Amino acid sequence: MSNDSVVTRFAPSPTGELHLGNARTALFNFLLARRHAGRFLLRVEDTDAERSRTALVDALAEDLLWLGLSWEVGPRVTGPSSDWRQSERGSLYEPYYRRLIDAGQAFPCYCSALELDLARRAQLAAGRPPRYAGTCRGLSASERTERETRGLRPTLRFRVPAGQLIEFEDLVHGSQRARSDDIGDFVIRREDGTATFFFCNAIDDALMAVTHVLRGDDHLGNTPRQLLLLQALELTPPRYGHVSLLTGQDGTPLSKRHGAATVRELREAGHAPQAVCNLLFRLGHSTADNSLLGPDEMARTFDTAHLQRASAHFDQTHLRYWQSEWVRRLDAADAEKWLAPWLPPQLDAGTRASFIRAVLPNVVMAGDVREWVQVFFADPLQFEEQARVAVREAGAEFFHAAAAAVAESPPDLNRLRAATGRKGAAFFMPLRAALTGRVHGPELGPLLAAMPVERIRARLHAAGAA
Ligand code: GLU
Ligand code: ZN
Repeated sequence: MSNDSVVTRFAPSPTGELHLGNARTALFNFLLARRHAGRFLLRVEDTDAERSRTALVDALAEDLLWLGLSWEVGPRVTGPSSDWRQSERGSLYEPYYRRLIDAGQAFPCYCSALELDLARRAQLAAGRPPRYAGTCRGLSASERTERETRGLRPTLRFRVPAGQLIEFEDLVHGSQRARSDDIGDFVIRREDGTATFFFCNAIDDALMAVTHVLRGDDHLGNTPRQLLLLQALELTPPRYGHVSLLTGQDGTPLSKRHGAATVRELREAGHAPQAVCNLLFRLGHSTADNSLLGPDEMARTFDTAHLQRASAHFDQTHLRYWQSEWVRRLDAADAEKWLAPWLPPQLDAGTRASFIRAVLPNVVMAGDVREWVQVFFADPLQFEEQARVAVREAGAEFFHAAAAAVAESPPDLNRLRAATGRKGAAFFMPLRAALTGRVHGPELGPLLAAMPVERIRARLHAAGAA
């Protein structure tokens, strides 16, 4: 692959929200382009006018940008929208229809939906795979005129050449072969003059000089048709790689039932885009690097040879893992920005910083911090049962001694240890329980540094009186 020539694209049909499966396809294409310092395009396939809505295009761009995927050609980039909006590209296709018609490689078909359906049923009943019966393949000029005068509006069908073997090397599935004799003449232009998917998708890839297409493997069966079309038009086909389906843990199509299915759901739940990308990066793509990667590192390690054929399973617990890896790497300033919406506004800068230092290791989602705000800054403290037990078992003496040893702020851990005469878990467990009402949570040192010293003393006294 020569470096400057790689052009990839993501070509969604904006008929709904950005699904995680499609987001992964977009990520892979983005990374492939980035890896080769190439170009990544966002082409909106909105020829299905009824189902595509402008608001969905906006939401789509929003979701992709949130994930950190940006494009060279597409919405929100200067340039005519006909560069990327398929519904505005109709006139570009005209010369290609013309060429096919003139070469006898496309013909008008006047069959009605009803006629096609009946033919299909008859074939199925005869145990044959349904395909276009060829009814209008050989119509003479006068037969066509006769149908036109009856007011019939034709579709345009591609005349599939007989006896051809179509071979291609799929980037994921390897060598593929199909026989043209198994493919019926297919519609490339609808009655209303709009292009069908097979046609505009393939032509646009060629016109946009796309070199690599990674897309869902539900399109694997469409590829032979598209290759035939490009061949007939003497256009250069891209290399195709068909990426496995993304499912839930149970193998069924990903849906809200599996925790989340769309990018918006993950964003609104408070996930970091980098965590989401790290998960998607590893779904159906194997990599030796198990650390949280940034976009450049992902691009460097992305390899189409590592795309897997088997369907990939989305697992909410993996997402949580990447999210906590992301949190673990936050520096103090970014952590503060991230948690700001959940912090009490009246905290002074010092308390705020030491509070975040204390609780960050116990936070995965930003909202988790609410619990710790309660624990550190609100009374009365709510005790979990285990913490109550730990306090009881430590005994009143322990807490009286500890409280008496609290002098300056923050209290000195060694002095507390010496005063209570205990060490290890017997020392920090009851202290943590008395101060937070929990047996799991922040390290004792940062905890003592973040909690107001009066509150520490008061809670130790309260534990001693319990
Ligand atoms: N609009 C098609 C889809 O969303 C594009 C398929 C492709 O990437 O070629 O399925
Ligand atoms: Zn026909």
